[in-house]
Amino acid sequence: MATPRLEIRLDRIAHNAGHLLALCRARGIEIAGVTKGVCGSPEIAAALVRSGIRVLADSRLANLQRMRQAGIAAQYMLIRPPKLSEIDQVVELADVSLNSEIQVVRKLAREAERQGRVHQVIWMVELGDRREGLLPDALPAAVQQTLCLPGVKLAGIGTNLGCFAGVRPTASKMGELSVIATGIQQHFGLRLQVVSGGNSANCEWLRSAPDVGLINQLRIGEAILLGRETWHHKPVPGLYTDAFTLVAEVIESQRKPSAPDGEVGLDAFGRAARLEDRGWSQRAILALGEEDIAASAVQPRIQADILGATSDHLVLDTGDCALEVGTEVAFDVRYRALLRAMTSPYVLKTYL
Ligand SMILES: *Cc1c(COP(=O)(O)O)cnc(C)c1O
Repeated sequence: MATPRLEIRLDRIAHNAGHLLALCRARGIEIAGVTKGVCGSPEIAAALVRSGIRVLADSRLANLQRMRQAGIAAQYMLIRPPKLSEIDQVVELADVSLNSEIQVVRKLAREAERQGRVHQVIWMVELGDRREGLLPDALPAAVQQTLCLPGVKLAGIGTNLGCFAGVRPTASKMGELSVIATGIQQHFGLRLQVVSGGNSANCEWLRSAPDVGLINQLRIGEAILLGRETWHHKPVPGLYTDAFTLVAEVIESQRKPSAPDGEVGLDAFGRAARLEDRGWSQRAILALGEEDIAASAVQPRIQADILGATSDHLVLDTGDCALEVGTEVAFDVRYRALLRAMTSPYVLKTYL
């Protein structure tokens, strides 16, 4: 079969989704299955829905469109705040969106009215990760205005931690969100349908928090796909971490000195040279590179060290083992490599 290829075990992804759903539902929490790491793959989205997930969430409209066109029945959520320039498509393709700008919500309302729909709005609250969201003080005014706009419905509030600054979604941060939700409910005399607490970095909180408060939704991508929480990148017990296998082919296998010979400047990506001298080594060159994956986010399943990669070549030190030219080597992928492999037209995707 062609290489490089990404072999995708749908049964394992479905198992992960089902297992996390059971853990979450036991605590009154629903999962929005995040598909941006797999470009909204309809095969994977269908596996999520089969395992019980009812909300599919993605940061890109093109991915939402791909899943909708494949006929996958779910509620569709846009998890990156909408661009002002694409509001018509947001209303067409997303049932609900995460928001942080009132002018965007006003335009969503006008467009939804024009299309004869009601678009659901979740206001993001910024609790310290310093990416999207209103600061807590600004939330009541935004809620007030949303309630006055025909065309949109206030679905709830949410927050996102552990991404930009890497701020940990602790019990205290989640408590803060619950307090804010309670405040909004009391002040406006309403019930928020959704309090969306976070992403795969929330797995540890989910396991250990004595009380989840008002939080009733998590938006989970990586933990379902790769079986790891994203705070320590530790495997989540009970989940498969190998639903994805990257396979690449050896195109050269020789013993060579590892130290460069000659005057050393910058490498293919303009970085200062960085090759360590490990004497003579048995090296394999694979037809795989930065155009296919992120070399720092793949791990060979055989005993071998990655020495580096350029656009099209990955160089391995295979120790005592001389791999034959033509041998296929299997790799685990981390999120960055998964994203690149799914996006790259050069990587064949095979669903098993
Ligand atoms: C990417 C993203 C998620 C999902 O993150 P994972 O680490 O893949 O679980 C959730 N919410 C928002 C806003 C995101 O951008």
